[in-house]
Amino acid sequence: MSTVRPPLATAEALLADGTTVELRPLGPDDHRAVLDLHAAGMSEESRRMRFFGVSRNAPRQAADRLCGPPRAGLLALGARAGEELVGEADCELLDGPPETAELALAVADRWHHRGVATLLLEHLVHAARAAGIRFFEADTLHGNHAVHQVFADLGLPVERRYTQGEVRIRVPLDERDERYRSAVDERGRSADVASLAALLRPASVAVVGASRREGSVGRTVLTRIHQGGFAGPLWVVNPHADEIAGAPAHSSVSALPAVPDLAVLAVPAGAVPAVAEECGAAGVRALVVLTSGLGPQEARGLMRACRRHSMRLVGPNSLGMAQTDPAVRLDAEFGGAFPRPGTAGVAVQSGGVGIALLSRLAWLGIGVSSFVSLGDKYDVSGNDLLQWWEADGRTDLALLHLESFGNPRAFARTARRVTGSIPVLTVDAGRSTAGRRGAASHTAAAATPTVTREALFRQAGITATRGIEELVEAAALLRAQPLPAPRGAVAVVSNAGGIGILAADACAEAGLELPELPTELGKLLPPGASVRNPVDTTAAIGPTELALFLRALEREEAVDAILVCLVPTALGTTPAQDPVRALLEGPARRRVPIAAVLLDQQVPVRYRTCADGGMVPVYSDTVAAARALAHARDRARWLAEAPPAPAEAPDCDRSTARSLIDGYLTAHPDGGWLDPLSTADLLEAYGLPLTTAVWARDEHTAVAAANGLRTLGHEGKVALKAYWPGQVHKSALGAVRTGLGTEAEVRSAYRDFTERFGPELAGAVVQPMAAPGVELLAGVVQDRVFGPLVVLGAGGTAADVLADRAARLAPLSERDLTTMVTELRSAPLLTGSTGAPAVDLAAVRSVLARLSRLADDFPELVEADLNPVILRPDGALCVDARVRLERRPSFDPYLRRLRRPVAAEAE
Ligand code: ADP
Ligand code: MG
Repeated sequence: MSTVRPPLATAEALLADGTTVELRPLGPDDHRAVLDLHAAGMSEESRRMRFFGVSRNAPRQAADRLCGPPRAGLLALGARAGEELVGEADCELLDGPPETAELALAVADRWHHRGVATLLLEHLVHAARAAGIRFFEADTLHGNHAVHQVFADLGLPVERRYTQGEVRIRVPLDERDERYRSAVDERGRSADVASLAALLRPASVAVVGASRREGSVGRTVLTRIHQGGFAGPLWVVNPHADEIAGAPAHSSVSALPAVPDLAVLAVPAGAVPAVAEECGAAGVRALVVLTSGLGPQEARGLMRACRRHSMRLVGPNSLGMAQTDPAVRLDAEFGGAFPRPGTAGVAVQSGGVGIALLSRLAWLGIGVSSFVSLGDKYDVSGNDLLQWWEADGRTDLALLHLESFGNPRAFARTARRVTGSIPVLTVDAGRSTAGRRGAASHTAAAATPTVTREALFRQAGITATRGIEELVEAAALLRAQPLPAPRGAVAVVSNAGGIGILAADACAEAGLELPELPTELGKLLPPGASVRNPVDTTAAIGPTELALFLRALEREEAVDAILVCLVPTALGTTPAQDPVRALLEGPARRRVPIAAVLLDQQVPVRYRTCADGGMVPVYSDTVAAARALAHARDRARWLAEAPPAPAEAPDCDRSTARSLIDGYLTAHPDGGWLDPLSTADLLEAYGLPLTTAVWARDEHTAVAAANGLRTLGHEGKVALKAYWPGQVHKSALGAVRTGLGTEAEVRSAYRDFTERFGPELAGAVVQPMAAPGVELLAGVVQDRVFGPLVVLGAGGTAADVLADRAARLAPLSERDLTTMVTELRSAPLLTGSTGAPAVDLAAVRSVLARLSRLADDFPELVEADLNPVILRPDGALCVDARVRLERRPSFDPYLRRLRRPVAAEAE
């Protein structure tokens, strides 16, 4: 195990009950602690289970083995709570069976049943996999139920071999074990929720730093908590006062009559670390830090206190949080008004957006379950809130505003699960970030931050909106109305023809279809009305007629949603003739969702309460209403699809690819572009269809190669491509010559290269000409934070100009393979709808699935650009591929660990 890649890293993570522990490789400094763990920390019985006997020397031997000088082949990890070593897990490579390590575990008795062993194992599994270990083995005693339970719960398959009194356990560490990932997820979810309880449902609260000065942040929050009617004890910490705003003041956190669950900090930045440490030492379980402007040292101090004392943290630079549950009623924020109790969970990164969002929700009458202003997100993030809302039994709508992602892949995985039960809406902030201009490959040029984020939202089933207004408009519909059938066919009904046409346009632009309606429905309408969709009822329609017509419409099989657009008419000025009444006196709860547009409405969206007590969202604008319906349709589609199956990519030769990549990176530690032939070898190892190519370093070999390849080429022709290291797009420089039919043509093309590129020219690649087809671009680029992004688009030399692309984050699902193709503007060229024969779509899917697998297996593959892949009815062939490699640490986005804010990273 000479290549331990990466070494065991330090991390903090949560135990089952929400306690934070630190996981750290064991070293010589830990000798004493390891000895104590095995001696004082464990009963004789526990030691007998661990060491199969009661040798007095066993603890010392264990400490010597684990804490000696670093040994190749040994990975040893300790878990600490505060200063105490509460458990250890280690594995040591065996001499005999290859890629197999002997596993050992010990947990202090009083820390049993809190998930220490499982957490240690998860981290050890990660490190072991990275070090090339593929099996754990361990001998256990028959009666060691605790250990057998740990293995049973872990989620990895366990093979057991029984001998006298002992059980030999063997655990294969398969990388792609979905059952294991789900088990880890489930443990992460419940630990996270447990740890957040003190923050989101505290039994008692202290405000630290509230001054007597009215209008100060601390004072304001204190008053708000008071006025909100917080159910539990509330204390103030201020050494200079006896009482502030009606709450008794105490000199310090440790002087409080009892330990508060939650402390809200509004102290100057310089005091934050010490106050946090004091809170932690006193036993506080959660902090909301309102203070902004922390320097790096203060940030580190704050984080250290939180992790060491197991406190979850909101902020710093937070506007606060609110919990509307009547049993809690905590309004610890200084934003807008205390939200009405309700079912929308709201988390925002920017306080300003939070205020705007809360006020719009309040205005609409959408109540809030909990609100958190995440601020600088040192710890608690959108991911935590999603898990909380998923489990809190109150929230049925999640509204997020996120500017950045700490671990987008983990977020996507959580969101994908949560969106299955409740709608998750987000404002897609930061769209305008400039793309990567002048990128060295078409794939990289396509992978703008916007494209990447959109891929994340789409794949996770998140409803992404372009602003607060659109978010609220979509939420209004999703909350009050049923989802349409996934087809999302809309019947547009209007009492003014022109408005109906505008609404129809808006629907079409939002991708909603307008089905034909049966002509019999016309009988229900006044003379002169048109029942073609959009339906023009004419201004003569009265309330009774409209109500009847809407009832008839909702029963139509062709209709999945109804959009009613009404204009006040002179007729409508008498209440009896007002068509709006028809809407309000009819039911709001129908078989299909209904949205309305009232053109004389002053606000963008509001609810109107109907006769049955249900609510219809009413928009002032057809575009907004259509967009909301499209979001509902997208959610319906997302839910209708079975959980996406991972894309199949059979027969990928991982070990060949591994050695190619390692070979290149050993020779080029700084990374770079692979030469054409190695590129072909790497891609072919993963079954990607590359055209035959022969390398020629001079004119003579080029001619010979061309003669050999000509018979394979379309019409007996070849292509010749000049190569020199570091080249970018070849044809723009005249480095590609296609359709060369004769020896003379090849010779003169090569001479031309020599003249043009001079001594730079390293040689040329000779390929048979591929038969013409549709040229696509397929590629992958690794984002440091988001992971690999797979891109499919219109290809060839004009790829960047056409900018017709679809992108998804790896690993792709079978569904991604389908939707990536269908969402291209040039999809009709592929499916045969333009009259040309349909191309081999299975071949396109296979290219995407294999690229996804390759990039997922090798974070070192930072860029792969296959352009073009030429598609024909009988297959796909790539005639130009480029690959860039770079050394990257292996990173498991799903490993359970708490975040490490950049601001608080140690120097
Ligand atoms: P670059 O993308 O660096 O400019 P390519 O190798 O992709 O160079 O060649 C440019 C274009 O030439 C391709 O998009 C394709 O249309 C055509 N071409 C290149 N090689 C072949 C080939 N072997 N068969 C058919 N067409 C080819
Ligand atoms: Mg190309």
